[in-house]
Amino acid sequence: MKNLVLFGPPGAGKGTQADVLKGKYNLVHISTGDVFRYNIKNQTELGLHAKSFMDKGQLVPDDVTIKMLGAELDKNPKANGFIFDGFPRTEAQAEALSELLAEKNTEVTAMIALEVDDEVLVERLLERGKSSGRPDDADEKIIRNRIEVYYDETSILKDFYEKQGKYYGVKGVGSIEEITDRISKVIESL
Ligand code: AMP
Repeated sequence: MKNLVLFGPPGAGKGTQADVLKGKYNLVHISTGDVFRYNIKNQTELGLHAKSFMDKGQLVPDDVTIKMLGAELDKNPKANGFIFDGFPRTEAQAEALSELLAEKNTEVTAMIALEVDDEVLVERLLERGKSSGRPDDADEKIIRNRIEVYYDETSILKDFYEKQGKYYGVKGVGSIEEITDRISKVIESL
């Protein structure tokens, strides 16, 4: 069973790559951002709660996010493995993920990080905002806030997985296919 954490700042291309990789390696793709957006669209209690944080480019609190992730894992008892996209984003979430997977007698196999310069991220997100309909992509101030939150709260997870010998950095610039090839080389070496 391979459980991959696809990592990187907003706009690094995690969602795009996860979409390709899930079919290629028969993995279940869990994007916490997508699950939150689904809940917002359906006006659930979780969605209303998450929206107040997401619209400002802040993280949804750990307790809510971890509970939701646990429920997503439970929905896929027969999975061959998972690609986590946008989770974990804090050390508490990384610890929780280890525990949730241990309960299922498995673990994170690798963190694969897409490395992209900040100015490229801002450009990509503004471009995506023209068609994504995401309020958090429409405003440069919110985009920059999300990138800042990434450096303040999330980027430390590189150390968390590096210490376990599970961190792999991949250049996140180039065509979608080129980046998929780089990630595939890592996955096939695991
Ligand atoms: P994303 O689709 O991954 O860019 O996430 C969009 C927004 O959803 C983030 O800016 C956060 O507000 C929220 N979000 C997604 N995943 C998480 C997470 N693991 N922890 C906290 N907030 C999250």
